[in-house]
Amino acid sequence: MTKYVYSFGGGKAEGSSVMRNLLGGKGCELAEMTNLGIPVPPGFTITTQAWAAYNRNQRTFPDGMLEQVTSALEKLEHDTGVVLGDPKRPLLVSVRSGARVSMPGMMETVLNLGLNDATVEGLAAWTGNERFAWDCYRRFITMYGDVVLGIRREAFDEHLTALKTRLGVKSDPEVPAAELRKLTQTYKDVVASRINAAFPQEPRQQLELAIRAVFDSWYGKKAVEYRRINNIPADWGTAVTVMSMVFGNLGETSGTGVGFTRDPRTGERRFYAEFLANAQGEDVVAGIRTPEHIDDLARRMPEIYDELLAIAGRLERHYKDMQDIEFTIQEGKLYLLQTRAGKRSAAAAVKVAVDLVHESVIDQHTALLRVNPRDLARLFVPLLDPQDKQAAVSAGRLLARGLAAAPGGAVGQVVFDADRAVELAKNGQRVILVRPETSPEDVAGMYASEGIVTARGGRTSHAAVVAVGMGKPCIVGASDIVVHEERRVFEAGGRLVREGEVIAIDGETGEVILDAVKHTEPQVSGLTEEFLAWADRYRKLGVRANADTPEDAARAREFGAEGIGLVRTEHMFFASDRLPIVREMIMAPDTVSRRAAVQKLLPFQRDDFIGIFRAMDGLPVTIRLLDPPLHEFLANPKEYREMIEERARLDALNINPARKAALDEKLAKIDALREANPMLGHRGCRLGITSPEIYAMQVRAIMEAACTVAEQGVKVEPEIMIPLTGTVGEMKLTYENTKKVADAVLVEMGAPCTYTVGTMIEVPRAALIADKIAQDAEFFSFGTNDLTQMTFGYSRDDVAKFLPEYLQKGLLPHDPFSVLDQEGVGELVRIGIERGRRVRPDLKIGICGEHGGEPSSVEFCHKVGMTYVSCSPFMIPIARLSAAQARLRAREASAEGAPNA
Ligand code: PEP
Ligand code: MG
Repeated sequence: MTKYVYSFGGGKAEGSSVMRNLLGGKGCELAEMTNLGIPVPPGFTITTQAWAAYNRNQRTFPDGMLEQVTSALEKLEHDTGVVLGDPKRPLLVSVRSGARVSMPGMMETVLNLGLNDATVEGLAAWTGNERFAWDCYRRFITMYGDVVLGIRREAFDEHLTALKTRLGVKSDPEVPAAELRKLTQTYKDVVASRINAAFPQEPRQQLELAIRAVFDSWYGKKAVEYRRINNIPADWGTAVTVMSMVFGNLGETSGTGVGFTRDPRTGERRFYAEFLANAQGEDVVAGIRTPEHIDDLARRMPEIYDELLAIAGRLERHYKDMQDIEFTIQEGKLYLLQTRAGKRSAAAAVKVAVDLVHESVIDQHTALLRVNPRDLARLFVPLLDPQDKQAAVSAGRLLARGLAAAPGGAVGQVVFDADRAVELAKNGQRVILVRPETSPEDVAGMYASEGIVTARGGRTSHAAVVAVGMGKPCIVGASDIVVHEERRVFEAGGRLVREGEVIAIDGETGEVILDAVKHTEPQVSGLTEEFLAWADRYRKLGVRANADTPEDAARAREFGAEGIGLVRTEHMFFASDRLPIVREMIMAPDTVSRRAAVQKLLPFQRDDFIGIFRAMDGLPVTIRLLDPPLHEFLANPKEYREMIEERARLDALNINPARKAALDEKLAKIDALREANPMLGHRGCRLGITSPEIYAMQVRAIMEAACTVAEQGVKVEPEIMIPLTGTVGEMKLTYENTKKVADAVLVEMGAPCTYTVGTMIEVPRAALIADKIAQDAEFFSFGTNDLTQMTFGYSRDDVAKFLPEYLQKGLLPHDPFSVLDQEGVGELVRIGIERGRRVRPDLKIGICGEHGGEPSSVEFCHKVGMTYVSCSPFMIPIARLSAAQARLRAREASAEGAPNA
């Protein structure tokens, strides 16, 4: 006969912590605490296996289960000395859900079960507290009515509210016993009218129906939704724990409370708890009364306080983690009702983990696995104050919700263009740039802003990628926002927001709020550094940064980057002193004038690279040759419009033919460069092949810079990277052209410098023919932004139009531009690595798409044997910890061996 029911009580339990899957979190820890000799009210747990059998049998309890419940109940009655349904001294129980992971508030609970018209009188006489007894009964009818009989709480609560109004009292405890007795009768009438039967009086029947209702609550709407969001499998099911009630509302020597063994906000080692005298747990949760500081308990009942503190300490040592406990004191006796690992802030997570290692409670390995990498990243950025934000949202100030593209919170005045952002920031004002979308020429304005919002675009759109790189909070694809640039207003949520009004943005949730929400500063501490140093000890994957300037490079180093995995050289082309030259280069009517323009760019590029090489002294730097289509540099829509208008004016007035001819030429060039699908157009190495002088100039600038700094004693390791390769021919030709120029510079300068030439793998075809590509390419870097775009066929810039609906309908588990799609894109990565290394076993392979700073993607990169991941400087702490966790998990799975150290 299968064992479905496990008892605990009288200092002994049939279960323990290791039976979490069978007994649920609550059930197994109550058993564990009982075995530890900690005072826990006795009870029993019905297993998740019983739940599974019940669901398999069309909601019929499995054979033998109810008999086992009967025996467990008899044992419980024996342990407590009272009997269910006894009209003199009735046993009352709670019936609670408990899945293997905590799903707070998602499933049902019934308290005070066992009360009926007879036992309520017994309870009143026995406790000498009539008010208490009737209060328990009316609470029981409400909960039972709601959970078991499907009658909405409000149907009961409205009578309580009306009663309080009639009596002219504010709080529940002011309602006297006689009134509660009458109210209970009203509640029973409500039940009778709803179910056409009397409120169930038979306690055994009450219990069976309550067990059934808790089983069924696994499929309740909120539980299903919670599981979907948190990826909890539907077949885990819930256990049911039936436990004898203890009462915190029996007078001044009773009470109830919750506590953490350390401060969940800071991680500080001190008992952090709240207590409410003469109350039930429900009152605390429902906010009916404001709990007092735990010192109040120390004053009222010093011995109980000491006992509680000792138990809290014992539980923490036993579970080797910060605990969140619930306790009740019934007439001077302490009971623990629950213990579990406490939820904590990001700062507390790191502090508790590091402190527990220092206190020799856990090892570094365990500490590293305890901290969520995403939480860690939150320490490095400012965040909106959650309470203040909630208050603003509740006050109806939420304007829009977009895709959360770069973490952190920002507050500032709305501006609509980059120049205005720069101007205001110069005067010390904080601004938030709101645009339909951004383009490279907005970069200076983005830099000057506290945060960025765009109405269009996905997570790898320009705004998102640049903001992540700058460490600025950013929301993209906020399609509820309509920007009217000319009028300097935007519309959202039925409001008109003007330039200068203050908004707050939350880059973690995608919320745009019309309010100056308070925010907190980054909280990096020595502890975080120590923690990350442990991560470095355990990880095998290298961690590099995507950085375009010497300043970004220096910051990346501070965050722990071991090199640069991607310099996007085009970002340097947009500086105001260069853009005119870039345009001259593009507009050049012939090769000679084009070469002349290109040559003018060389010194600028060389200086950029010198700065980056110096900042990264001793570490490798991967520099990508020009990638975006040239039209991006020519004219933004506003400039284009102005040119058209100017030409029309000149036409009408019939003046200045020279200016008109120049405009015509410019407009013709812009039109000629216009593309229907620029991301699939004339870009990447295609550009290098059709305009070889551009790549030649860039390679020369890289090598001259490398030789210059090498002569000054800087250790430099340039890796020249070709973008968007898709065929062997492209690879070969670009490789040979690159080598020719690079070797020539080495001869000319005679400096001791080596370099390599490799390619990005961004086109699916390149992954498939990686063996042939690797014949020339000396390294690979997976550009998973483009690879995702081309594998799914989703435009990076337009994906936000349908993605939210796809996510909501469950058609995609995640945004594939944020979390690497291991099944499809990942398969191409696997193939690319395997085929590339077939030809070059020591091929250096990295990733430089946005996925390089996302935990599950980093774990994937570890598994498939990449050499390094490269991500924005601000994501480096995430990548370092994720890489360590990936290795530790793999080691746990295969018990592989000792750390690197
Ligand atoms: C990529 O495609 O993943 C990449 C890093 O290049 P970019 O984002 O500049 O296209
Ligand atoms: Mg790319």
